[in-house]
Amino acid sequence: MDSNQIDNTCANNESTDKWQNDQDKYWMQQALNLAQKAEAIGEVPVGAILVQDNKIIGQGWNQPITLHDPTAHAEILAIRDAGKRIGNYRLPNTTLYCTLEPCPMCASAIINARIAQVVYGAIDPKGGACGSVFKLLPSDQRFNHYTISKGGVLADSCSLILQQFFQKRRNLEIDSKEKPTLQALLFDVDGTLVDNERDGHRVAFNQAFAEFDLDWYWSVELYGKLLQVTGGQERLQYFVDNWYPLVPEVIDLKSFITKLHNRKTAIYQKLLKQGHISLRPGISRLLEQARTEGLKLVIVTTTSLSNVESLLGLHLGPEAIKWFTVIAAGSQVSAKKPAPDIYQYALDQLKLPASTCMAFEDSAIGLQAARAAGITNVVITTTDYTNGQDFTGAKLVLNSLGDSTKPCRQIAGIIQVPEQIDLAVLHKLHSL
Ligand SMILES: [Zn+2]
Repeated sequence: MDSNQIDNTCANNESTDKWQNDQDKYWMQQALNLAQKAEAIGEVPVGAILVQDNKIIGQGWNQPITLHDPTAHAEILAIRDAGKRIGNYRLPNTTLYCTLEPCPMCASAIINARIAQVVYGAIDPKGGACGSVFKLLPSDQRFNHYTISKGGVLADSCSLILQQFFQKRRNLEIDSKEKPTLQALLFDVDGTLVDNERDGHRVAFNQAFAEFDLDWYWSVELYGKLLQVTGGQERLQYFVDNWYPLVPEVIDLKSFITKLHNRKTAIYQKLLKQGHISLRPGISRLLEQARTEGLKLVIVTTTSLSNVESLLGLHLGPEAIKWFTVIAAGSQVSAKKPAPDIYQYALDQLKLPASTCMAFEDSAIGLQAARAAGITNVVITTTDYTNGQDFTGAKLVLNSLGDSTKPCRQIAGIIQVPEQIDLAVLHKLHSL
C-alpha cells in the first residue's frame, strides 16, 4: 500500500464521517422538534425517532404524566410506534435518535427490539444508561444482541431545552410559594348574603313612612336609584334632598330621620323573623365549608348590627354569630361604601393582610370599597338592582354562588367556574 492510497482512504473516511455527522444532526433536529411537543403539554422535553433506510418509522415524546404511564418515555413510545407501523416486534437495521441519554428501562427495550444503533444528544448524569450512571449501552456480549451507541449530537440544544424547562418550573414553584394563601372570606350582607333590598328593606321603609303619616312611597324603580347611596339614614337624607317630598315640620330633621330609620329597622326585623327574607343560593354551603377548612369569616356591611344578628340567627342558628371572627357593621365607621373605611376597619380587627382575603359583594359600590382597601380578590353576585353595573376589577361576576337546585350563571371572570362555587374554586381564583 503506497502513501497515496492511505491518503485516499483517509479522505474517503473523512467525507463519510462528515456525511454521517450531518445525517445525525438532521435526525436529531427532528427528535428535538418532538421534545417541544412534550414541553407544550407540561412533560419533561425529551423526543425520540427511529430511522430505517433514511426514513422515520417511529416517533415519540415524553408522556408519562399525560398517559398515566411511568413507562411512556419518548424512546419507548417511538419503539411502540415503529413496531405497529412495520408490523414487527423486532426492529433490526434501525437507528434510534433521542435527545437525552436513555435510562436503563429504555436501554433494555432498545436491546430487546434489536435496534442497531442509538444516537443521543444530552447526557443524563442522574440516570443515563450509556455510561453516565449505568453502562447497558453499547451492549456487551452478555446480551444476545449488540447495539452500539454514540452521544453528544446537538448536545447543547438538547440540554438547553431541558434546562429552560426545569428553570421555568422552579420559577413557578417560587411564585406559588410567595403567593399568600387565602385565609379569610369577607361578606357584604344586603344583596350578597340575602337578596333583600326590593322585598325587605324597601317594604320596611314604606311601612315606616305609612306609620309616620308620610305620603312618601318608594317604588321598585325609585328604590333602584336610591340604592346608589349606602346606609339607611344617608339614603333617607338623599331622598329628601333630591326628590323634595313633603317633609313634616320638625325642629331637627336629622333626629326625625334617625327615629324614622329606627322604626324601619324594627319593621325589617319583623319581616325577617316572619321568613320573608332568605339566604342567597350557595351561601350556607360555602360558610359551612369555610368553617370546616378553618378559614376566617367576616361581615363587612353598612347595615345595622341588630339586622346582621337577626339574619344570621334566623337562618344559620343562634350560634352562627360566633362563626364570624369580625363583624364590621352599621355605624362603626362614618364614611360608607364606596369609601374603603369599613373594609379597612375589618382588616385592622382581623389583623390579616388584604392579600390573604377575598371579598363578596353584589354592587359596584361594594367592589370599589373592597378594592380601595387593597382587597384585589372580589367576587360579585349580582341582583336585579346591580345587574349591568360596571364590575371592572372583579375577579369573578356571577348571578349567585349556586347550589344543587339553582346552579350559578357566570357573567365574567378570569377563570371558567362550575355551577356551584366551592372553596376549591376560590383557592384557585385567589392564586391567580
Ligand atoms: Zn427512559
